[in-house]
Amino acid sequence: MLSNIISFFSRPISRNKLTILNFHQVLAHKDALRPWEPDSEKFNWQMALLRKYFRPISLSQGMKLLESGQLPSRSVAVTFDDGYLNNLTVALPILKKHKIPATVFIASAFSEGKNMWNDRILDLFAQHNDMMDLSVAGMGHVDVSAPEKKLATAQKTVLELKYFEPSVRDEKVERLITSNGGYVEARKMMNASEIKEISDAGIEIGAHTHNHPILNTLTVAEQYQEIKQNQELLSHWTNKAVTGFAYPNGKVGIDLSAETVNVVKELGFDYAVSTEWGYVNQQSNRYTLNRFTPWDNTPWKFQARIAMNYINGKP
Ligand SMILES: [Zn+2]
Repeated sequence: MLSNIISFFSRPISRNKLTILNFHQVLAHKDALRPWEPDSEKFNWQMALLRKYFRPISLSQGMKLLESGQLPSRSVAVTFDDGYLNNLTVALPILKKHKIPATVFIASAFSEGKNMWNDRILDLFAQHNDMMDLSVAGMGHVDVSAPEKKLATAQKTVLELKYFEPSVRDEKVERLITSNGGYVEARKMMNASEIKEISDAGIEIGAHTHNHPILNTLTVAEQYQEIKQNQELLSHWTNKAVTGFAYPNGKVGIDLSAETVNVVKELGFDYAVSTEWGYVNQQSNRYTLNRFTPWDNTPWKFQARIAMNYINGKP
């Protein structure tokens, strides 16, 4: 692997290949129930490394250059999904410091103070340290006093509820919260004026549906409505055209179908990103672009992982 990576940095084998990185949050402080999310310190060295060894480029610019066959080697685009407030308060200053362009794909229903269903579950767990009633997720009563047990159980609860049709899922989340005596909710997502602010700061805004459903659980008409409403709201709030889309959850054939792709095309989007791993080249379907989320905790592994993604499409 080492010789592969050295030859990667000495030859233009990554020309006309784009690596798209997929982040969600950048935490101000580490969070025991979200160990996969980078904190500001980690995100800072990640962005410093991108600036030093790669060519950070906006996703829209990357797609244009790729189309004309002029994408320079080692081009990498940074993206965020969902529209977290810490994208504005924590990530943006770091992106500015290292001059890294980025795109944020936003689910617009969470712009009025209510958090996403998965965060509501994690925050409920964060505020309970004893027996929890998880009957709604088919687990009965579970003791979550041990931190590892709490993390694993919280993740399992999210997974158990993920694929229900959105109204059923949300009703189950409400029942879960009520049957455990509630919790204090702190706003986690950007509101309309904060979305305008991050857009005005030069961050590209992309669509991500209104309610963040698994699109494949909806009828085609419902999918159309979810995406159209989201696109119109974001465009209205930012006063800009919204031409990029990210599929919620993003597994091709599981979370989205060929019909979903047709809806996205019909609504005039220029490209759409999935969560399938790999690089993007001129042969890629521009409506199911690959991305990956870096998970390494050391700069060397982070750098090697991106290099391997260009070399064989497997980060
Ligand atoms: Zn999402």
